[in-house]
Amino acid sequence: MKGTVLYAPGDVRFEERPEPKIIKPTDAIVRISVTCVCGSDLWPYRGANPITEPTPMGHEYCGIVEEVGSAVKTVRPGQFVIGSFATSDNTCPHCQYGYQSSCEHREWISTAQAPRLRVPLADGTLVATPEVPSDELLPSLLALSDVMGTGWFAADAANVKPGGTVVVVGDGAVGLLGVLSARQMGAGRIIAMSRHESRQKLAREFGATDIVAERGDEAVARIKDLTKGTGADSVLECVGTPESMMQAISSTRPGGHIGYVGVPHGVELHGEKLFYTHVHLHGGPAPVRRFLPGLIDLVWKGKINPGKVFDLTLPLDQVAAGYRAMDERRAIKTLLRP
Ligand SMILES: [Zn+2]
Ligand SMILES: [Zn+2]
Repeated sequence: MKGTVLYAPGDVRFEERPEPKIIKPTDAIVRISVTCVCGSDLWPYRGANPITEPTPMGHEYCGIVEEVGSAVKTVRPGQFVIGSFATSDNTCPHCQYGYQSSCEHREWISTAQAPRLRVPLADGTLVATPEVPSDELLPSLLALSDVMGTGWFAADAANVKPGGTVVVVGDGAVGLLGVLSARQMGAGRIIAMSRHESRQKLAREFGATDIVAERGDEAVARIKDLTKGTGADSVLECVGTPESMMQAISSTRPGGHIGYVGVPHGVELHGEKLFYTHVHLHGGPAPVRRFLPGLIDLVWKGKINPGKVFDLTLPLDQVAAGYRAMDERRAIKTLLRP
């Protein structure tokens, strides 16, 4: 089997890899129907994380179960399943509280840009769809594996309420799906921050009521303007840089909530400054597993179409071109077909 491996910044190869096998009795092997490149894959691709050895890539996946270990009880071969980038037993205390991405037995999925994938803790990680889906549902179901689940968590963590005012910082796939999530949760006003026309358009399609193209202090001033000087009830931080985090904190009203899901790179918060802002901060790797059943239902019934964030589709063996297109911001998100 061939799979995706990152050798150095900008150097993605599709090369021979070992076939995945059942290692533990709780594993499943999934034949990938579609996979994709994540915004977070761009951090190592751009050299922001050191690469010490050739690293297999990919953590967003859905597909057909081929084989299960002897201890797997609920997942069966032939089922179409979606799982999170973090595996979970779904039984430990953290899972029971709904934080499956902090499961006591968590492992990170990291080899999904390939035709086949080993998924540990299959019963607790994978969720099956009611039937094998039609081809046109695949992009939206794949989006649930990370970006849609993460956008939803950002909105949930930011305490989005019906009628509330929401700001979304970040116009990548997660930010755009944060807009969609806020809309589903009944937000009254959704201000998306974006300076790219195609992304602004999709943000509006997903439910944004206002677009702010300014950045930094000017952006904060615009948001204060739009909220009569008060600031937003809920802010979704979907980038992870010091600038985006400060923008999020400064855009939130005292007592408001921030859901932050951009993996922080160089973010340092000043305790005393934070103290006087009076904001709630809640974030981390999204517990996608908590939201999967509900989100599958919404996609299955045609109520949401998060697959629209995929604006480039390539055969899996052209994965390197998929990374390049996202790196150069020619594509929001690249879907890969094995
Ligand atoms: Zn991802
Ligand atoms: Zn657990």
